[in-house]
Amino acid sequence: MTDCLFCRIAERGIPAKILYEDELSLAFEDVNPQAPTHVLVIPRKHIPTALDIREEDKGLIGHLYIVASKIAREKGIAQPGFRLVMNCNRDAGQAVYHIHLHVLGGRRMHWPPG
Ligand code: 5GP
Ligand code: ZN
Repeated sequence: MTDCLFCRIAERGIPAKILYEDELSLAFEDVNPQAPTHVLVIPRKHIPTALDIREEDKGLIGHLYIVASKIAREKGIAQPGFRLVMNCNRDAGQAVYHIHLHVLGGRRMHWPPG
């Protein structure tokens, strides 16, 4: 069994509040939300960081954004606005090394981010 947390969530080995899934991706609630809406969108494919995205993954990455938009609409944060974030490596605070788009909304976001 994989020791990647998000691969295990995708395989349903670890429980999560899954909002959406298809053959390529999964969206689930973040366990430690930083905003009223905080959803993670992941590919089923294990890609450790944004630096590991390959030419062949272009369609998959676009798909993650489409799923994120769908979640934003369903959560009612599309028009007020929301933020999509992918942290990469230590200085950005990446904690789980399986790429994920954070979908954050439901409150006013600050810029520049901390
Ligand atoms: P990162 O810091 O890597 O960009 O984001 C990792 C995110 O995963 C964090 O927001 C953290 O709260 C979330 N997270 C960590 N472990 C779990 C878990 O077991 N379940 C869920 N649903 N989210 C998790
Ligand atoms: Zn993984």
